Amino acid sequence: MAEARTRVLVLNSGSSSVKYQLLDMRDRTRLAAGLVERIGERTSRVEYTRLTEDGARTREREGRIAGHEEALRAVAAELDADGLGLDSPELAAVGHRIVHGGRLFDAPTLVDAAVEKEIERLAPVAPLHNPAGLAGIRTARALRPDLPQVAVFDTAFHAHMPEAAARYALEAETADAHHIRRYGAHGTSHAFVSRATARLLGRPYDEVNTIVLHLGNGASAAAVRGGRSVETSMGLTPLEGLVMGTRSGDIDPAVVFHLMRNADMSAQDVDVLLNRRSGLLGLCGDNDMREVTRRSDEGDPAARLALEVYVHRLKKYIGAYTAVLGRVDAVTFTAGVGENAAAVRLAAVEGLEGLGLVVDPRLNAVRDRTPRLISPAGSRVAVAVVPTDEELEIATQTYGLVNGQDTVREGTT
Ligand code: AMP
Repeated sequence: MAEARTRVLVLNSGSSSVKYQLLDMRDRTRLAAGLVERIGERTSRVEYTRLTEDGARTREREGRIAGHEEALRAVAAELDADGLGLDSPELAAVGHRIVHGGRLFDAPTLVDAAVEKEIERLAPVAPLHNPAGLAGIRTARALRPDLPQVAVFDTAFHAHMPEAAARYALEAETADAHHIRRYGAHGTSHAFVSRATARLLGRPYDEVNTIVLHLGNGASAAAVRGGRSVETSMGLTPLEGLVMGTRSGDIDPAVVFHLMRNADMSAQDVDVLLNRRSGLLGLCGDNDMREVTRRSDEGDPAARLALEVYVHRLKKYIGAYTAVLGRVDAVTFTAGVGENAAAVRLAAVEGLEGLGLVVDPRLNAVRDRTPRLISPAGSRVAVAVVPTDEELEIATQTYGLVNGQDTVREGTT
């Protein structure tokens, strides 16, 4: 009897790293996980963890890995050593996280030559990410040509935002000629978390309005009405919106030409400034929220101000998205900061009682990996913490596509 094809390998290729997970979709368990980091640098690192019912076993090795193709071959070799390699008959597909899908891709997509070309064409708006994702696709294909490769786009969940939210008020011809509009990002996470929030409330997904605050090193907010993203804070690129670890989020665009005209900075210099040297890092020298809150608690003025700017921006977005949605059922925190930084959550909703937002400090202080409410029972708006799981969402969408199930709107999470 043929083996059931129930496993999905998920690849998340960043500019200098590849994260991966192998999942068995029968019970949605993780069989293996790890990453290759510092690709292209002198000493890259390959980490591989085999996960079984008896626990986790990790192997690590260092050595130079020149590019993404070599990185993926290293991952395949690690999996192979445990009999989980790309040629194993149980593997159903590889799911690839692709950051930018432009306007064309609004759902997980089986990759063929035309899809590859389109991902390549979108590289100018995701120069660090789309080429890396493409390298993952091409290498996986070379290693196992008959295996379905599925692209899951970070922009897909936002692809049907109303035009009023997706358009910038720019001269239309110029915007259209250069495909300038708001695409958003973190869509896989916003989809997973908004669906999990509806579950937590015990209500149908298509009836619940949620503001999702994905606060990681990158951060974005989304307004989700009945399972559809109607507004999100990232725009043409993941620079717009909230204050992030190293990214400025919203600024007056005139800052860019002001710096170019008066500070002898090139477009590239300003790009680096806004994407890598701003945000929390730019304000206080640390981009890790653990450090920022620790220093702020000790009375460090720069860290305190950084936190105030971060929280102020969050509040503005909560207020704006309350107006966009009209009725809000839940505000949900997720990702590294959202899941772990109780003080940030508390500060973000402080003073918003008028919008129906209250946090119970005792519930907020609980540390837990399961979705939970942190608002008092009977609150007008639920405040929730839902750990995101982008890899599981990518695997679910990938598996759903190759099995002909519509997991995108229905989902199983
Ligand atoms: P992510 O991009 O979702 O992995 O989030 C990473 C960020 O989460 C880190 O850079 C930290 O700023 C933040 N983070 C992780 N753990 C904690 C914690 N215990 N307290 C505050 N922030 C945290």
